Amino acid sequence: MSGRKLTRQQQWRIDKVQNERNERAQRKDRKVDNSLEEGLLTEPHAGLVTAHFGRQVEVEALDGHLQGQRQRCHVRANVESLVTGDYVSWRPHQTPEENGVVESRQPRRSLLARPDMRGVMKAIAANVDQLLLVIAPEPEPHANLIDRYLVAAEHTDIEPILVINKWDLMQEPQRLTAAQQSHINGLLETYRQLGYRVLITSAYQQQDLQQLQDNLRDRISVFVGQSGVGKSSLINHLLPGVDLRVGSLSEDTRKGRHTTTTAKLFHFPQGGQLIDSPGIREFSLGYLQPEDVAQGFMEFRPFLGLCRFRDCRHQQDPGCALKQAVEEGKIATTRFASYHHIVQSLQPE
Ligand code: GDP
Ligand code: ZN
Repeated sequence: MSGRKLTRQQQWRIDKVQNERNERAQRKDRKVDNSLEEGLLTEPHAGLVTAHFGRQVEVEALDGHLQGQRQRCHVRANVESLVTGDYVSWRPHQTPEENGVVESRQPRRSLLARPDMRGVMKAIAANVDQLLLVIAPEPEPHANLIDRYLVAAEHTDIEPILVINKWDLMQEPQRLTAAQQSHINGLLETYRQLGYRVLITSAYQQQDLQQLQDNLRDRISVFVGQSGVGKSSLINHLLPGVDLRVGSLSEDTRKGRHTTTTAKLFHFPQGGQLIDSPGIREFSLGYLQPEDVAQGFMEFRPFLGLCRFRDCRHQQDPGCALKQAVEEGKIATTRFASYHHIVQSLQPE
């Protein structure tokens, strides 16, 4: 958005929309108050937001006799915006088909956000513990893809885990060239050395899936990565019987709502939760400053601030501490090149 002033008419229109919105919210709140007086809403419970539909949310009961059940809810006008994964205090309605009400939101451990079409950051999921970044020997990972995700994850409190899927292809020399094989082995080596968790999987190997399940227990996970690497295959094995796409569509049409690609929360039968949506899988780097990018490369951190010039761009600048670290083998050349690539891609056209 440009910074130009709004005309009086534009401002008037914005105010009008805002007022109408407030009035609607107040009307809803009054309806909720009536239900409260009539004793239709039960006492407050702990809940978890499992989906989001326009101004309503679906909440799962975390305690009491309703535990595990879900109900659509109005959100009190004074509650800050909610996303899937938010912990809330809510009052279930006595009739399961009716709407409960969310009264407050708990503090968030983490927040996953991404830029919308206009470049404004939008929250998509809260309290995610780990980001499973899936890559495969085929399709070959886009340049810098891994580092882009890692930088983004380093700026949230979400732990990234690298999942190298389709490992079975590595045992089929006729499917991959020697260069492709050594590229993947190189990635494995680089990221393990940096201390990132790296899992090797094949969606067809029961043993691998079990190991993956062990890494998903007790945590809220999100799967990301480029198309074709096997995210759907992995998730379908981990969540048997749940058709992710069909699930979200029928949920919407039931009450005649327009289709939404909102993130939904699922429970793995073996423990742990998944937040997923078609959009979330392509979660990308937000709008970061070059300094933020350097911070996102964890092995750069000991050298940041040590360059001779404060505005060092770590290119041909004399006295660059990062360049020296690369020459001394303390920073991998591939990671350094990747850093420059990402910074360049952030420059406005
Ligand atoms: P997504 O786009 O990331 O969701 O990827 P899909 O799950 O749709 O998988 C893309 C293709 O890769 C499909 O043809 C899968 O059958 C295949 N695929 C997925 N996982 C594996 C695997 O571990 N090994 C092999 N060889 N193929 C796989
Ligand atoms: Zn420098």
